[in-house]
Amino acid sequence: MTHVVVVGCGVVGAAIAYELSQFPDLSITVLDRQPPAQAATGAALGVLMGVISQKVKGNAWRMRQASLQRYETLIPELEAIAQHPIPYNRQGILMLCFDAEALPRWQQLAETRQTQGWQLEIWNQEKLHFRCPQINPEKGLAAIYSPQDRQVDPTALTLALVKAARAKGVTFHFEAQVLALESESADGLQTSQQIQTTAGKFSADWVLIAAGLGSTLLTQAGIQPVDIRPVLGQALQLQLEHPLGDRHFQPVITGDDIHIVPLSNGQYWIGATVEFPNDAGEVSADSAQLEGVLEGAIAFCPALAQAKILKTWSGLRPRPYGRPAPIIEPLSGYTNVTLATGHYRNGVLLAPATAQAVCKLLAKREHLY
Ligand SMILES: Cc1cc2nc3c(=O)[nH]c(=O)nc-3n(C[C@H](O)[C@H](O)[C@H](O)COP(=O)(O)OP(=O)(O)OC[C@H]3O[C@@H](n4cnc5c(N)ncnc54)[C@H](O)[C@@H]3O)c2cc1C
Repeated sequence: MTHVVVVGCGVVGAAIAYELSQFPDLSITVLDRQPPAQAATGAALGVLMGVISQKVKGNAWRMRQASLQRYETLIPELEAIAQHPIPYNRQGILMLCFDAEALPRWQQLAETRQTQGWQLEIWNQEKLHFRCPQINPEKGLAAIYSPQDRQVDPTALTLALVKAARAKGVTFHFEAQVLALESESADGLQTSQQIQTTAGKFSADWVLIAAGLGSTLLTQAGIQPVDIRPVLGQALQLQLEHPLGDRHFQPVITGDDIHIVPLSNGQYWIGATVEFPNDAGEVSADSAQLEGVLEGAIAFCPALAQAKILKTWSGLRPRPYGRPAPIIEPLSGYTNVTLATGHYRNGVLLAPATAQAVCKLLAKREHLY
């Protein structure tokens, strides 16, 4: 039996635990200092921008594609095990286009996607207003419709992953803050890790750090610690008397980096701000920026001006400093510690592909396949 410890139970740690639970030769423990989906994951909007992203090649595209494909099987699989529905919007993402000069670039992307087996539609103003009459005619010049992109409720997803992983034998400890990792060696080789936590010591043959912003502190003893910094996001939930436009066609609408995410019963999430820390690494929510996001959303969909604000919130996105997101690689100086962290703005989108990548790494190491 190989003992694996996953540190962190946001969407990334939970997805990893679930995918690893398919291997009967692993015993898996997940440690978190708080209940699941409380950090960045609990603040996220769950918009899965894969096909409509500008990434067309390399790992960035491969991971997006792998995640979108896995989501289509993962959601029904989890719903069957967890025995409750996960809000998963299959009506796609509609991106508003305000600049005629950008259209050739979108046309080109649509052609590329077609060769990759994915669909993107370019809608003219007439089609946009026919399908989405809620859009301000002065705002939407055209739109790009991506029917195969999705949106998922990140908290419901994470809780379902935890429930399903538990059903497959994974153990979770939710009041265990990891304080330090200590390598045990024999003949100069690291054989296992002792994990010191506020809930006692755990031993592992392999440790996975999926601790988001907490990863920085946990890697300080390594040769090359990771530097993950917060980028704050604020969002709000609105209630309208009726759903916007056609109640049977409720895609995520996005424009100028503002998402309007349909929920049920005329409710919508609107977000999110992107607020960077100051030189001292501190960042606090700026209410003017949240107002700006709401004003932007109202400019696209004037009916939102009538909505009641049910709640507002903020969260910290884990962004790797000076290098691209995410970080999925061995922690340097360790043979049995792997990082799966720093997913910045796309952790919900990339969680399934991250879990697959981690499975591959471990399978290679342990000859599991
Ligand atoms: C407002 C907002 C909107 C967003 N919208 C989207 C979106 O639409 N689509 C998308 O894909 N992404 C979105 N994101 C980004 C997404 O939320 C993150 O990329 C993702 O949640 C990262 O997941 P994670 O599991 O790596 O980290 P987290 O969710 O932050 O989880 C890390 C976990 O590690 C635990 N931890 C840390 N240190 C320790 C320690 N020492 N010991 C024990 N436990 C520890 C924490 O308690 C936490 O539970 C959004 C983020 C924000 C803030």
